[in-house]
Amino acid sequence: MGLDALIFQTHSVSRYSLAALLGAIESDSRLSDLIIEAPFRPSMNLIERYARRGEVLVAHSVMSTQTKRVYNNVKKIRDQFSEVKIVGGGPHASIRPGELIDAGFDYVVIGEGERKFTELLHYLMHDKDPSELGGIITTKQEEYPKPKEFEIVNLDDYAPFALERNILGPIEVTRGCPFSCRFCSTPFLTGSIVRHRSVDCIVKWLKRAVQQSGFDRAWFLSPNALSYGGRGRKAELTKLENLLQQATSIQGLDEIYFGSFPSEVRPEFVNRQALTMLRQHVANQTLQIGIQSGSDRILQEVNRHHSVEEGISAAIIALDCGFKPNIDMIFGFPSETPKDQKLTIDLCYELIEMGASVHAHIFMPLPGSFYENETLGILTDDTRRHLGTLARKGMVTGSWGNQEKIAMDLAARSRKDIAKG
Ligand code: SF4
Repeated sequence: MGLDALIFQTHSVSRYSLAALLGAIESDSRLSDLIIEAPFRPSMNLIERYARRGEVLVAHSVMSTQTKRVYNNVKKIRDQFSEVKIVGGGPHASIRPGELIDAGFDYVVIGEGERKFTELLHYLMHDKDPSELGGIITTKQEEYPKPKEFEIVNLDDYAPFALERNILGPIEVTRGCPFSCRFCSTPFLTGSIVRHRSVDCIVKWLKRAVQQSGFDRAWFLSPNALSYGGRGRKAELTKLENLLQQATSIQGLDEIYFGSFPSEVRPEFVNRQALTMLRQHVANQTLQIGIQSGSDRILQEVNRHHSVEEGISAAIIALDCGFKPNIDMIFGFPSETPKDQKLTIDLCYELIEMGASVHAHIFMPLPGSFYENETLGILTDDTRRHLGTLARKGMVTGSWGNQEKIAMDLAARSRKDIAKG
C-alpha cells in the first residue's frame, strides 16, 4: 500500500502556487502513477470517492491571510475522514508550522515546495517515513527549521506551470529578494539570494505552451521586474532585454506582461533607458511601482532604501515612457504619525494629478516579517475620508476595509503566540 491520490484544495488566491507545484510534479517521472485532482473548488465528494478506493493526501497551500478558511476545511476533512492525510505548504506553513499541526495537518512543508513536496509524495507512494526528510514537519516541536536553512532550488529544474493538466499561470522568472523591507515576509520565505530562470528555460516552456495550449500571452513574475539577470541590487538591462527579445520573438506568442501585477518594480531601478526598452517589448499599459509612503522618515524606518523623491521621479519617467504608473501605498505603519499619513495622502493626490493611480493597503503585521508582532495599522479619520473619496472617483483601488479585519486577526494571533511563549 502507498499513496494513491493527491487532491489539491484549490482557491483563487493560491492558483499561481498550484500551477507551479503541479508543474514540479509533472517534471518528476517518479510520480507519474499518482492520481492528481485539482478541482476548481474544495470538494468533499471527491475526497470521499478516492478515500473509498485507496490512500488519499489532501493538499492546501496556506497564506497568512487565509488561515481561517483553510483550518475550517481541514476540520471538516478531519471530522469526516479519519484515514485521509493532509499536507500544508506555502507561506504560512513555512512560518508557523506548529499552528498547522495544531489545526490538524499531518505534514507541513517548510520552504520551497518544488523539491520537498515532490520528495514527500515519492516517500508516501512507497510507504516510507517522511519525517526523515528535512523540511517536512510531522509533529509539534520545540523549534522548527527556517526556509533559509535548506538548499535553494534551481528554478530551471522545474516546469513553471502544469502544461499536461493545462493549469497555467505566470512564469516565475526571479525568486528571492536582497532587500529587507520590514513589513514584508518575502525575504524570510524565499531568502536574500536572487535566482532567475534562465532565458533558455523560459523560452522552452513558452514555446511548449504556445504549441500545446494555444498560449498567446504570458505574464512574468518577479519581486522586482527590472532586476532580472542580476543579483537584485541593480539592473542588468542587457540581460532583461535579451529575455524580452527572445520571448517576444516566439511565434504565436502575441503579448508579454512584465512590471505590472503580479510583478512590480522598485522606484530606484526606474530610469528612461530601462523603461524605453521595456516599453518596446511588453504589452502592459501599467507599471506597478512600490513607493509605499509619502514620508521619508517612514521609508527609512521600514528599510525601503529609496526616497519619496525617487518614487515621484519613477512615476514621471513611467508616464513619459508610455506607462500608467499604479503606485502601491501602505497606510498605518508602526510609529507612523498622523503627519506621516497626511504626507502619504498628499503624495497620492500629487501622483493622481500627474496621471498615476494608487493601490492602497493598510499595514498588516505579516507573520515572518520583521513587524510580525506589531499591532495593525490605524487609519486616521481624515485618511479614511480621502481614500473613500478617491476610491469613489476610481483613482484609488484596494480593499483596506477587508485588510483591516485580516490585520486584526493576525495581530490577535501574534499576541496569543507571544503569550504562549
Ligand atoms: S517589499 Fe519587495 S523589495 Fe521589499 S523585501 Fe519585499 S519583495 Fe523585497
